[in-house]
Amino acid sequence: MILKIRQTGDLVLRRPARSLTPAEILSAPVANLIAVMRDTMRDAPGVGLAAPQVGLGVQLAVIEDTAEYISRLPPGQAAERRREPVPFHVIVNPVLTVEDADELHFFEGCLSVAGFTAVVPRALAVRVDCLNERAEPVTIRAQGWYARILQHEIDHLHARLYIDRMDPRSFMTLDAFNRHWKDLSTADFLRVLDAPPENAEPAHE
Ligand code: ZN
Repeated sequence: MILKIRQTGDLVLRRPARSLTPAEILSAPVANLIAVMRDTMRDAPGVGLAAPQVGLGVQLAVIEDTAEYISRLPPGQAAERRREPVPFHVIVNPVLTVEDADELHFFEGCLSVAGFTAVVPRALAVRVDCLNERAEPVTIRAQGWYARILQHEIDHLHARLYIDRMDPRSFMTLDAFNRHWKDLSTADFLRVLDAPPENAEPAHE
């Protein structure tokens, strides 16, 4: 079963999610929720999906990044983004701690802001203390793109969207992104954005 993904403007995305008890995590409805969220994320496709995005205000998210998705990036961008495959897993009641506050700036999207993308600063490295789908405590240490995914998904559980954190000047349709900026590094895009107009465009004599 594939669930409908709620879009920005839906209040469920702007309400903090509640934590789940161990008994709830081990219950059949939550096991079923995890299975349909996994299928919905893969169908989209996306690398993460938080329960509020399918209309449920509980602190649960699924995450998966694959070698296949990464292989579709333009040359050099996987390394620039420090993006590596992450096996499917579930985070419940996560607590995020920034371990390296250096910010990386990259284009990011969200299945709940469909059709758009923007540059979002994210901390380089984080630790996440959470429960897994068996209600066991887990500590995750992540950096690079995986750290970005965790920050994005955990933001959803606290009613935040990337548009709250983005550089608003970089907000654009995916169509415009694919047309103009897809093959450029984000650093080069930001240099163009920040350049004085006479340097940003060809001279007209
Ligand atoms: Zn999202």
